Amino acid sequence: MTTTAHPQIPILDLKPEIDELRPEIMAAIGRVLDRTDFIMGEDVHLFEQEVAAYLGVKHAIGVNSGTDALVIALRALGIGPGDEVITTPFTFFATAESISMVGAKPVFVDIDPATLNLNPELIEAAITPNTRAIMPVHLYGNPVDMTRIMAIADKHGLKVVEDCAQSFGARWRGTQTGTIGDFGAYSFFPSKNLGAYGDGGLLATNDDALADTARMLRVHGSRKKYHNETVGYNSRLDTIQAAILRVKLPHIEKWNAHRREVARQYNEGLKGVEGIVTPELTDGHAFHQYTIRVQNGRRDELQRKLAELGIGTMVYYPVPQDELPIYKGQYRTYEYSSLAAKEALSLPISHFMESKSIFYILDRFNK
Ligand SMILES: *Cc1c(COP(=O)(O)O)cnc(C)c1O
Repeated sequence: MTTTAHPQIPILDLKPEIDELRPEIMAAIGRVLDRTDFIMGEDVHLFEQEVAAYLGVKHAIGVNSGTDALVIALRALGIGPGDEVITTPFTFFATAESISMVGAKPVFVDIDPATLNLNPELIEAAITPNTRAIMPVHLYGNPVDMTRIMAIADKHGLKVVEDCAQSFGARWRGTQTGTIGDFGAYSFFPSKNLGAYGDGGLLATNDDALADTARMLRVHGSRKKYHNETVGYNSRLDTIQAAILRVKLPHIEKWNAHRREVARQYNEGLKGVEGIVTPELTDGHAFHQYTIRVQNGRRDELQRKLAELGIGTMVYYPVPQDELPIYKGQYRTYEYSSLAAKEALSLPISHFMESKSIFYILDRFNK
């Protein structure tokens, strides 16, 4: 065994957060045990109210995961077989998977190389008579140009489902992502900006009828117990997870501000490092990930070197959706998306990351 003189910095460390919040979390879980309201309990209802107030949206609907939130949003909008949904090829599979899951077809448009988000200027050329919706993803917490997306959707009569799995607390021109389209779909997977300690998700909408349908779909397609109207899902936000999320929600603004500060320090420190493109510090960016692009085919080599120095990194995402085995041969390749899959490298970031870790990483880069 070799001993390592350098610190180990994982891509994400949840321990400091748990250390700080443990007494409150344990007390919150204890209250659920005392009440035994494990399914759709008091904390679920209170969390839904608190998160709706935070997001500035009329309805917040807790579900079992971010993936389920996307699926239920599409189902509530009546999207299914024969329909097409326009989205980005450069995302986590759950985005395209949700479209395939309801029997619709994902239609990809390439990303903007400057933001790595779906390029709104390419949407109109991809619209066909079967197009029903646009599903933008606020990748890495960087808000997509929702003004442009909504203008295109209005012009062509399309629905908009925002994939906000990575953008809890991010804002587009001062408005929370997920509250601009017909639905916002959030994930509380533990690594997300607002993470549960298990699976969880949420739907946000300002539309009363859509909210009612989504609530019906999450409990086996029933508005009234034992009077099922359609095939729905067993997809409720767990009460214990809601209790944990209620402890964490009041911290989210401070935590996202810290993430932005980490990103600012990285950008400052990486300025002028040859062959590396740093992300723009756009307004409202929640920096779920801090992702650089490593040019000249040197990404994997850099990742290996950083690993040797104890610095954890990840490639989000190494394979664009259109090149996944499931969709192989069905799509042409998208130039900038393919390039991003070869260049993107996410560095360690969290809302508890300390300056000394950032300095250590920057120091290694400059060497
Ligand atoms: C995490 C994630 C999801 C899925 O969320 P789960 O809660 O894991 O189901 C969907 N889309 C994107 C972009 C994600 O990052």
